[in-house]
Parts: sequence; structure tokens; C-alpha cells
Amino acid sequence: MTATLGLQRELGTVHGGASGPTLLVLAGIHGNEPAGVAAVQRVLSALRPVAQHLRGDVVALAGNLPALAEGRRFLARDLNRGWLPQSLATLQAQAPATDSPEDAQQRELLARFDEVVRTARGPVVFVDLHTSSADGPPFLCLADTIDNRDLGLATGVPIILGIEETIDGASLEWFSSRGIVAIAVEGGRHQHPDTVGNHEAVLWLVLGHLGMVGEPLLQRDLHRGHLRRATAGVPPIVEIAHRHAITAADRFVMAAGWNNFQPVRKGDLLAHDKDGEIRAGYACRMLLPLYQALGDDGYFLARPVARFWLGVARWLRRLRFDCVVTWLPGVRRDPHDALTILANPIVARWFVTEIFHLLGFRRLRQRDGKLAFSRRWSRPENARLGRQ
Ligand SMILES: [Zn+2]
Repeated sequence: MTATLGLQRELGTVHGGASGPTLLVLAGIHGNEPAGVAAVQRVLSALRPVAQHLRGDVVALAGNLPALAEGRRFLARDLNRGWLPQSLATLQAQAPATDSPEDAQQRELLARFDEVVRTARGPVVFVDLHTSSADGPPFLCLADTIDNRDLGLATGVPIILGIEETIDGASLEWFSSRGIVAIAVEGGRHQHPDTVGNHEAVLWLVLGHLGMVGEPLLQRDLHRGHLRRATAGVPPIVEIAHRHAITAADRFVMAAGWNNFQPVRKGDLLAHDKDGEIRAGYACRMLLPLYQALGDDGYFLARPVARFWLGVARWLRRLRFDCVVTWLPGVRRDPHDALTILANPIVARWFVTEIFHLLGFRRLRQRDGKLAFSRRWSRPENARLGRQ
């Protein structure tokens, strides 16, 4: 593991000559993932001399400073968990003297996130840079709002839908729940020589999509070409079909040789644990196989989403089809929260998650035996993103 010594929280801020969106970049929320730090530093260096031509502001923060200094994913707990309101309330109520290293990091990051959102001159866009322990092309994780998806598609990098529903409280959630466009970028394997360049290309294409920089600085074709080569043969959009959660007691060991997006056939050997072999139950694609010591996700399985269905989804949302969804059997609006829909999985079993995803809802945790779904519409101030 490569340690990243002497980093400050503030990787840099560039204030543009004209007002516009604020791009907030977080790098190294996992301490063994320094490639994102290097990538955003390159982008900041290129922007500084030409700041007068930047529309809006770029703010870049380092994530887990003590873990970056040791080149470890985390010291006491995963800093990319615990961003849901309940966990944050527990953190705020706790005496700072009893903070774990990650508790203290989270307090500092929260204060900065709040400040950036409060002082932004325009809409905020959040980009969280990651790398993984397996080889494979770069990809994006995002909540399936139309703005998030437009931003993701503008990079040409494959999109994974639904990962935020399987991971409890990633930092993306803090932004998504405030109606802020938010994507996580997996740039490639931690130490692969192309990974920093993949992150850098995504950041430039995001800046271009948001109208914050133009040619010749942007070099859109160069970055598009780079990412097209890096992602050749990968479906443009996949959704998570399964998360294999693990604990230390499982003695989980991933089978050798799996890469991100590698096709999986039914019956393929995926891993071993204390109960023996784990084999695939159906054909799909491999995502984020665990080849490092720390982590609570063994692997994910994903399946391609046809563009046709994404078009249908956009059309249904335009028609505000969600207004009639409560007419379906076993489905009703939460009496305490107009933006949440409750579905009885016994009555409404065959359509539940698929239809709600199409309508732009995201699944929340089960509540009293019911499935809860929340509205994903963006706030109005972010509505103009991705339209220029
Ligand atoms: Zn990560």
C-alpha cells in the first residue's frame, strides 16, 4: 500500500471568473485510494492559471487523512458509511473526546460539506473518487435521478444503478438526500498506471457537461477517447442484482481471477467461506470483488439495463405517473411523509422494486414488514444542471 503523507483536508479551491455551479470533489475517503487525490490535484493545477475562464467554483477535499497517511482503507471504521441522519445524530450527540479516528474525520468533513453547500454561488455537484482492489474498467455509482444519470452518461463511463440501496449510508447519500447531484467514480485498480488518468478524464468531462469550462481547455475528444478505450466491451448501464455482505466470522475469501464487469455464468465459483464454496445462481456480471483485507462487501453481481427501459422511465416520470401508483393493490402513501410510499410485499410482490425504480423512487429500508420507497426528484435549483 502507498502511504500519502502530509496531506491537508483542503486539496485546493479555484474560484472562477464567472458564477456557475460548484463542483465539490472528495478524494481518498478510503485511505488506500490515493489515485483520486493525484487526479484532482492535476485538474486544479491546470485550472489555477486560467481561473478567469472557469464558470463557477471547484472545491477539492481529502477524505480520511490518518488512513491516507498509513495507506489503509480505514483505521477504526469505514468512513464511507454512517452518513444517514440517524448515524449522524448519534455522532453529534457523542462527546468528541471519545471519537474514533473516523468519527473525528466525519465531523470535519460534515462541517466542510455544510459550508460548501451554504456558500455556493450556484447549484452544487458532488463527485466522490474511489479505486478498487480488482482490475477492470472505470465506472460510476449513482442514485438514479435524471440529473445524476445525465451527468453520468456525459462521461461515457458505465453506470451502476442501485448500489446506494445496498450500501448503508455512503457519503453520496448525504448529498442525494439534499437534492444535490452526486456521483461516485471508481477509477480502476488502486495502483494501476491508468487509474489517475481515468479519474482526471471523468473530472474534465463533468466540468464540460456542467458548462464550467469550454474548449480548448476541456479537450473533450481526448478525454472521451481515453475513457472509450478504457471501457470497451462493457454495457453502458447495469443495475445491482445482489450484494454479498460479509463479516469477519464468515472467513470469506474471493476466488482468484475475478475482474470488474467480468461476465459470470451460472455455477461459476465466486468465493469460499466457512460454509464452503459460493457459486453463481444465475448469469450476470461481477462487480467489486474483494481482494483486500478490509471491507464488508464480498462482491456485487450486476445485470445490464436496456436503454429502452431507461427511456420508458424518463417518459413515465415526465407524465408524473407516480401520482397514480398508490392506486395499485397493496400500495399506499406514508401517512407521516408525503414523499414516501409504502408497499405491502405480500400483496404487491410482482412489480414492487422494478416499477418503483422506473418511476424514479428509491428503496429505503423495510419498515414494519412493508417496503418503503422514497421520491427522488431533484430540488428546483438543480433543475438546470445538464441542460446547457
Ligand atoms: Zn473506495
